[in-house]
Amino acid sequence: MARNPMLILVNPWIHDFAAYDLWSKPMGLLMLASVLRGQGYELRLVDCLDVHHPDMQRYKNLHAPKRRDFGTGKFWKQIISKPEPLKPIDRPYSRYGIHPDIFRQELEKAPRPDAILVTSLMTYWYPGVFETISIAKEIHPDVPVILGGIYARLCTKHAREKSGAHYIVDSASPDSLLNLLKQLGPEAHPPSAPSFHPYPAFDLLRRLEYICILASTGCPYRCRYCASDFLFPAFHQRDPEEVFPEIVYWYQNYGIKDFAFYDDALLVGAEKHFIPLMEEVVKTGIRVRFHTPNAIHIRVVSKGIAHLMKKAGFQTIRIGLETADFDLRRKLDNKISQGEFERGVQNLLKAGFHPSQIGAYILVGLPGQSVESVLDTINFVEANDIMPYLAEYSPLPHTDLWEEAINASEYDIQNEPLFHNNTLLPCWDESKRARMPELKRKVREVRERLVACSTQNLFVDAH
Ligand code: SF4
Repeated sequence: MARNPMLILVNPWIHDFAAYDLWSKPMGLLMLASVLRGQGYELRLVDCLDVHHPDMQRYKNLHAPKRRDFGTGKFWKQIISKPEPLKPIDRPYSRYGIHPDIFRQELEKAPRPDAILVTSLMTYWYPGVFETISIAKEIHPDVPVILGGIYARLCTKHAREKSGAHYIVDSASPDSLLNLLKQLGPEAHPPSAPSFHPYPAFDLLRRLEYICILASTGCPYRCRYCASDFLFPAFHQRDPEEVFPEIVYWYQNYGIKDFAFYDDALLVGAEKHFIPLMEEVVKTGIRVRFHTPNAIHIRVVSKGIAHLMKKAGFQTIRIGLETADFDLRRKLDNKISQGEFERGVQNLLKAGFHPSQIGAYILVGLPGQSVESVLDTINFVEANDIMPYLAEYSPLPHTDLWEEAINASEYDIQNEPLFHNNTLLPCWDESKRARMPELKRKVREVRERLVACSTQNLFVDAH
């Protein structure tokens, strides 16, 4: 039988002012890898964000990234020159990930592929994607390069005109890519008896510290600042009977203890999804830890759900509060009504979570938002005894708030995705941006106080 085609899958670098590995894995690419493997394609994955690449040790001038609890931590980084539009910003800019020489070696090591697939994430990270594509074309000049992922979907025209990729896939469905690969040939032959698990292909990564789980795609809410609706127009929840074996698979075969839910709406419809899933976890007694970096909807956190979360092993709980300014909120979303946040947080605290395990994301830099509104929200979170986390707003095409963002911004966000960078607070003016250090200081103080309290309580509990 003819050989199966071989593909190189690339998770590109991040070029930014700051980046942190908060359970960051290329989930879309790994899901696609699973589908491609099932179709018979042979795969090589090159992860430019690989924190554990052994060859990085030879760069003595680079500091090894500090890793923290539960598999999170820093990436390798090298300071690079800023792209022209960001030159006026007085902050260092870095390439996060492995050294370009190592990337070249990884590409050279692989036999000549039939195509190279590059994913993308934040719109303003496109320079890292372009650098990846350019090197891939240099090493394999006659191989088609296909770009997909979130940047390619949100800024398709920009990607078509500027990325250098031969093809752009702007659909969430793997079918468009499979059709394109068929046209490019050669044809893949699905194995008669699949030898791989059906889950996202985390096993292609070098060293697994945690697994990301997607128990649903999309979100039934339609918050005006969020692109979930565009990226996943339908809200789809997987059967808990499918999700549970996935957790057990990684736990039993790879010894994974930490699982980060990537869901946008993990707790929606909890009776039929989250509750049976977690009851199964508790019943079987597997000792795992769960994290919710994408935030949960606090309005759904009843006493029962809070206790179940505690029993099942949740460690890191993030809540999408965004703002406690209900006049502003009415213009943005309807995911929390007054009183729901306080009630849900109390349920979590009473279930036994430490305040330092629960954090509320607060959006900063929205069009029309005042600094005082953010300060009030920080105070509100502090009054509820949990940790505030600032989430700087990044304006995104295809969101409902996009036109307002364009009107509010001094930057040309319409034509230059680099200006979507949340570090710039692109929809605030200079006078508001100047108060960002004050907001960050305030948040830091609240968090330090709560961590100190938790440590004290732990000390008292232990005695
Ligand atoms: S609830 Fe969260 S994921 Fe859903 S639309 Fe709003 S911000 Fe997006």
